[in-house]
Amino acid sequence: MVHKMSVTIDKYSGFCWGVVRTVEIAEESLELDDTVYVLGHIIHNPKEIQRLQEKGLQTITIDDFPRIANEAKQQGLQPKVLIRAHGEPPETYRKALELGIEIIDATCPVVTKLQERVRKFYDQGYQIVIFGKSDHAEVLGVRGVCNDQCIVVSTVEDTISKVQLDKKTVLFSQTTMDRPTFLLIKEALQSRIKDLIVDSMEGIATEFHAKDTICGQVSGREDMLRKYAADHEAIVFVAGKASSNGKVLYDVCREVNPNTYFIEDISEINPSWFKGISKIGITGATSTPQWYMNHVQEHLSNLVTV
Ligand code: SF4
Repeated sequence: MVHKMSVTIDKYSGFCWGVVRTVEIAEESLELDDTVYVLGHIIHNPKEIQRLQEKGLQTITIDDFPRIANEAKQQGLQPKVLIRAHGEPPETYRKALELGIEIIDATCPVVTKLQERVRKFYDQGYQIVIFGKSDHAEVLGVRGVCNDQCIVVSTVEDTISKVQLDKKTVLFSQTTMDRPTFLLIKEALQSRIKDLIVDSMEGIATEFHAKDTICGQVSGREDMLRKYAADHEAIVFVAGKASSNGKVLYDVCREVNPNTYFIEDISEINPSWFKGISKIGITGATSTPQWYMNHVQEHLSNLVTV
């Protein structure tokens, strides 16, 4: 028997406003210049990177700064480099200034705010704890604003072993981490620091602040995503493999619906996933372009399982 399926796209999926803004800034710059350089991949999505590359966007590393500065000068042009939504450490701005490179700053305002808050607490002598991935681009930027004088943690155990409890401390989060783990880390630190204050004979004035800096564009989607995943028999989750919020949101879907499949490319779709299934949902990360989810929808709609 030939089996036809209904395939829909989650209406809350697609780029977050921070990514929309970054891509718009890149496209506006590409209208003015044939080539625009971006420091690191503009977003964690190979499909969108390829689309922008075809328009003239070139991904570089900071080691390319001297080369592009020289090349532009030889051609009598102003060298320009776009900074993506994840942001950069102050060192990058200093190097650009030194070489006469103009920065097109597309750092997401949510990330800029996180950097400013970290800097403020660092200047006041706090021990800075960041819940995040230490080598993630956003965290590298945040580490830079506090001269790398921070502790990056990913689990409660990690936190307890690394954080010095007798110092005034502030906890932040990378914007795309999961809130339940953030809250566990916050509680673990809070209760231990409280005990320390009570136990202390010397009366060490230990202070602890927890700043929930997880982006609302990620956390706000979780409840809607749970509902969407529960309403469908199978979910195809489309995202770049390097996307942090992709992993977080995929886990949310999978928790509710075990028939959730992560794909970066249409070629990874296996028709056997949908045997006997008639209602499929497509969703993705905040860096997944709508146009690619439309392709996936078209592909799945033409797929018939027997
Ligand atoms: S997820 Fe949030 S912090 Fe990250 S780019 Fe989007 S709006 Fe900005």
